[in-house]
Amino acid sequence: MQVSPKDIREYRRQLKKALENDFLRKTLDNFALSYMEARERAFEGIDFDELRLKLSSARRSAVERLEELYIGFKEKAEERGAVVYRASTAQEANEIIDRIARETGTNHIVKSKSMTAEEIFLNVYLGKRGYRVVETDLGEWIIQLCGHSPSHMVMPAIHLCRRDVAKIFQKYTGEPIDSEDIGEMVALARRELRREFINAQMGISGANFAIAETGTLGIVTNEGNGRLVTTLPPVHVVLVGLEKLVPDTKTALQILKLLPRNATGQVISTYVTWISGAVPWKGDSGEHKKLYIVFLDNGRTQIARDPLFGEALLCIRCGACANVCPVYRLVGGHNYGHVYIGAIGLILTFFYHGPEKDEAIVRNCLNCQACKEVCPAGIDLPYLIKETYGKILERRSKRPAKNLILARILRDRRLFHFLLKQARLLQKPFADSDGMIRHLPLFFMKEQTFRSLPVITERPFRDRWASAAPRPAKAKEKVAFFVGCLIDFVYPEQAEEAMKIFDKLGVSAVFPEEQSCCGLPALMESEKETARAVALQNIEAFAKHATDCRRIVTLCASCASHIKENYPRLFDKPDDRKMAKKFAEKIIDFSSFVCEIVQNGQSSVFNPSGESVTYHAPCHLCRGLKVKEAPKKLIVDAGYNYVMCPEEEVCCGLGGSYSMEFPEISRELLEKKLVNVESTGAKYLVTDCPGCVLQLRGGMDRRGNPVQVLHMAELLSRALK
Ligand code: SF4
Ligand code: SF4
Repeated sequence: MQVSPKDIREYRRQLKKALENDFLRKTLDNFALSYMEARERAFEGIDFDELRLKLSSARRSAVERLEELYIGFKEKAEERGAVVYRASTAQEANEIIDRIARETGTNHIVKSKSMTAEEIFLNVYLGKRGYRVVETDLGEWIIQLCGHSPSHMVMPAIHLCRRDVAKIFQKYTGEPIDSEDIGEMVALARRELRREFINAQMGISGANFAIAETGTLGIVTNEGNGRLVTTLPPVHVVLVGLEKLVPDTKTALQILKLLPRNATGQVISTYVTWISGAVPWKGDSGEHKKLYIVFLDNGRTQIARDPLFGEALLCIRCGACANVCPVYRLVGGHNYGHVYIGAIGLILTFFYHGPEKDEAIVRNCLNCQACKEVCPAGIDLPYLIKETYGKILERRSKRPAKNLILARILRDRRLFHFLLKQARLLQKPFADSDGMIRHLPLFFMKEQTFRSLPVITERPFRDRWASAAPRPAKAKEKVAFFVGCLIDFVYPEQAEEAMKIFDKLGVSAVFPEEQSCCGLPALMESEKETARAVALQNIEAFAKHATDCRRIVTLCASCASHIKENYPRLFDKPDDRKMAKKFAEKIIDFSSFVCEIVQNGQSSVFNPSGESVTYHAPCHLCRGLKVKEAPKKLIVDAGYNYVMCPEEEVCCGLGGSYSMEFPEISRELLEKKLVNVESTGAKYLVTDCPGCVLQLRGGMDRRGNPVQVLHMAELLSRALK
């Protein structure tokens, strides 16, 4: 059941099949929406960013001290009667548990939900050796009965409906089951599982944290099964990943404060079980439980030493990175991960289950940053996903042709610009008179017909600069302008409108001609060397204006976010890094810049029209740069009537070249976005990124909808007096 397509083609076939599953999409969508509301409520009055910072730093220091914490834990737990093992590999962990079962005369095992057990395929291993292993979490039991694997870390059977469950139960009991009677199905599960609890000789559980200072384990669950598994049978085996070690109870409580809130939107989960050593069993009988704790390494100590990927071990398995992921919402965990799913799954699969299992799925990330925004451990998931792809490429004897071409072209600005101009000539025969391409030969475009495309301009912005440059009589500020490829070569009019606004606002600008692509497309393809080379070109291009221009303004949210966040980390040497950081600090997006000036008393430049405008928040602006309010303030300040769009911050589905690689996902996300926009009844849809304009305008055009899609610069320019 786990996805492990051999290549992108096979993977895309799988995705298309998943997209046809209306139930799955509806369920995941309903869940995502109710999850976000519940999460918001659960964090009311709590500073999530502050908690995240504290947790991330505590977890980081724990991951750096895994050896020391393991020794401390083992000592304390063994003092309290537990037996502690350490398994280097999945195979070793399975063998240890098999040995414990044999030595304790076990043949019947009950289990509570554990991703670590899924990681090592423990049930399969024990099943082959003749043990009866029964999952006791309701969702896990259901999927065990039908031979599925979990499709979510917290809600393993979210992909099944009540009718599916009724069929599964019917097959299991041989009795007719009424799929409308959920209460009876739950009662059946309770009856069956109670019998298993009573008869089992061993319980196997995972743990959410292992506290070194006391040798205590903490288990967070929502069903009573976890407690029964850990208390009823005479033998308890705890399988726990080494990264779950924490130094003290304080750190465990920090996790506990965030975990249920972020996982399911609960303030606290129903059960939190603390286990310190082999406790008495059967009341006053004098017998003690046999407690075995198996720590799993399976590559963790190696990951912990990696300066970049060590961050992946901070994960507390809340599953939120899947809950908010627009791709997961469409195709579910069986198609968005291997054993571990969601954003963290795309990374961990490489390390725990091998590059070949990750090769196709790791490409399926839009870089929308939604996962990063909610991760309570502060993991930069989208960045690590791209780095994981980089590791996969390193193992290949040849880099893909696409990468080689990209690297060659992007490094040579003149060649790049020359080729863009040539591409225009090729496009010309297919363009309609309004400059949109609606029909292309099928072999080239057959899967891209869900949106019309713009043509490359005849005169890029760099050739228009001389006439477009703002020339205010008295300049209040002088800025440098970073144009970005899409505006330069596809939408130069957006930059021209921005310059008119600058002129009115008393802002003068310079345009360093040697500037080039920001380099984001290279980084997205894991061409780090190229991304670095291009970054250097840009830093040098703007260097001569370093003293007279305090800020560098751009109309492209993706360029801005890439420069701000990624430029400094592209460089290894401290001096280079410092230089990149200095450059990055000057970058400001157009809306924030104009909003600041307008809020300082320049709103009189606009003529209020009261026309209705809805807004699409580009991923790289609202999450990348954390600019959320400025664009909406501007819409109002310019005299428009702002109408909020449902799911304003959800990705439009472009994701740069993602939409070419996974058009089926891109199309669905675009469709959803446009339906939401149409529900507002607004005349204009405005956004802050030329990439989003491309996607949304093309989609609206295809739908034949009269809503006008504009860049913020175009909208504001229309309102100028
Ligand atoms: S990576 Fe972050 S959001 Fe995802 S499961 Fe782990 S802690 Fe939760
Ligand atoms: S960046 Fe977006 S698409 Fe990629 S894993 Fe995170 S949420 Fe999903």
